[in-house]
Amino acid sequence: MTSPFTPIENPSLFCRFCSKIVPAQLDRGIAENGKTIDKKSTFEYSCSKCFKTSCYCGKDLLEINGEDETDETRTYSPREHYFIGEEIFHKTFDENGLVVGKENGSNGKILVHFEKAGLKKLIQDI
Ligand SMILES: [Zn+2]
Repeated sequence: MTSPFTPIENPSLFCRFCSKIVPAQLDRGIAENGKTIDKKSTFEYSCSKCFKTSCYCGKDLLEINGEDETDETRTYSPREHYFIGEEIFHKTFDENGLVVGKENGSNGKILVHFEKAGLKKLIQDI
């Protein structure tokens, strides 16, 4: 049984068209073949600057009022899975960063924005 899923509505996302981090807006969730919208659904976000949309899977998005949600900031490890909108701590950079995007490909990569270190691509799900 799948439970309904409500992802974050106004994340900061890296827009590949604007090449910068912009406020984004959740447009809609797309369910597969009449199924209810859940964590496996695709969600469309539009850039507040250029209005182009990007799609993300629910499993890559932070949930509003998620049960697993804690106030603890996780320390980055390439073995773990991170969510867009999540704040993580990176030991090497010694600062917190915000997950602002995902790169699709064989290896999952996350885009993380650090105040001092800038935008970094980090590996996840090893
Ligand atoms: Zn844009």
